Amino acid sequence: MAAVDFDLSPDHELIRRTVREFAEGEVAPVAEELDRTKSFPYEIVEKLGKLNLMGIPFPEEYGGGGGDTLAYALAVEELTRVDSSVAITLCAHTSLGTQPVYLFGSEEQKHEWLPRLCSGERLGAFGLTEPEAGSDAGNVRTRANLADGEWTINGSKQFITNAGTDISGIVCITAVTGGEGNGIDPTHPKEISNIIVPNGAPGYEQGEPYRKMGWNASDTRPLTFTDCRVHEENLLGPRGQGFKQFLHILDIGRIGVAAMGVGLAQGALDEALSYAKQRKAFGKSISKFQAIQSKLADMSTEIEAGRLLVYKAAREKDSGRNFTLTAAQAKLKTGRLAVRCAEEAVQIHGGYGFIEEYPVCRFYRDAKILTIGEGTDEVQQMVIARALGA
Ligand SMILES: Cc1cc2nc3c(=O)[nH]c(=O)nc-3n(C[C@H](O)[C@H](O)[C@H](O)COP(=O)(O)OP(=O)(O)OC[C@H]3O[C@@H](n4cnc5c(N)ncnc54)[C@H](O)[C@@H]3O)c2cc1C
Repeated sequence: MAAVDFDLSPDHELIRRTVREFAEGEVAPVAEELDRTKSFPYEIVEKLGKLNLMGIPFPEEYGGGGGDTLAYALAVEELTRVDSSVAITLCAHTSLGTQPVYLFGSEEQKHEWLPRLCSGERLGAFGLTEPEAGSDAGNVRTRANLADGEWTINGSKQFITNAGTDISGIVCITAVTGGEGNGIDPTHPKEISNIIVPNGAPGYEQGEPYRKMGWNASDTRPLTFTDCRVHEENLLGPRGQGFKQFLHILDIGRIGVAAMGVGLAQGALDEALSYAKQRKAFGKSISKFQAIQSKLADMSTEIEAGRLLVYKAAREKDSGRNFTLTAAQAKLKTGRLAVRCAEEAVQIHGGYGFIEEYPVCRFYRDAKILTIGEGTDEVQQMVIARALGA
């Protein structure tokens, strides 16, 4: 009988320990300032690149870390324990920006882009969302027409992470490349393809960053394409496969975002426990009150359940099984978990939880997007219900 093994391998323990040390030593001390000043963490990204953490799940021959999805999830979890902005920068870069090139790119495209992306010299971004295509992601309006060996792209994308920094390299966008009725998927009759748009392509413009509730040190902005021209060979994989490709990318991305949920929830619990032990009321530490203990116990239990779902999804992916259902369950569970734990951690801090110097205040603002980005909770429920055959 096959055993269920809950222990991490020595390699996985090593990556957890390495990233935890880095997160505590290099990220935590500057997280509050980066958030307050809304500054993109260039130095941290550079250091993550030097530690070989900007391309964890990609093969070494392309400059990647040669790790698996579980290793990647552990790294994301540890970073989010102290700062969500740094974590989403790595997460969007890895699972959304770099993954499409690795999975669907030609050898030429891989050799051209992966070494620079995996080293952190350049950032990858994924441009799916549009003003009229969010949850209904197949409703893409951006068009790309092929003529004389070039794609001419017109349209706009919104809420795109990592595309507007000084080190942004590429954005992989979805675009309609053929008329109605020409598609692969009968429910989405437009022909949708993925195209690599390098930073600096003529007619490609990055808008001003959004003023956000959280993730303040990460880069999120709208993108506009006005007769933007890129080479015909920038098509990712076969023409018309874009819909299938982005669904797969979103499945993978959900494991990363779910790891962020666990990490944020764990960070909130760590802060709440430490505060509760030192804060005194009625002559004793508030951690001795049963009401506070119940909150801490519930947080810890739910975090462990969420963590197991994330690791299970990562394991399923790494062993080549279908992981769509578990990734959606992990994302649904941990987004809610992060919101709940951040709220409880603020509550345990009392009035200090409302003050920005306390990390839980930032955690509270950073948590909410985890129930929206990479597919809302309602979209995860649709994916799960579909997998159940409902
Ligand atoms: C900070 C940030 C970073 C982001 N980064 C990226 C990125 O890098 N790349 C990218 O492509 N996108 C990115 N996004 C976009 C994000 O993925 C979308 O915002 C998200 O998928 C939701 O789409 P929407 O905002 O259009 O909401 P909508 O789709 O308009 O949804 C509005 C509400 O309606 C609900 N709803 C919609 N359809 C249904 C339905 N059929 N049944 C039930 N409820 C439904 C939704 O669940 C939601 O509650 C980012 C967003 C933010 C805020």
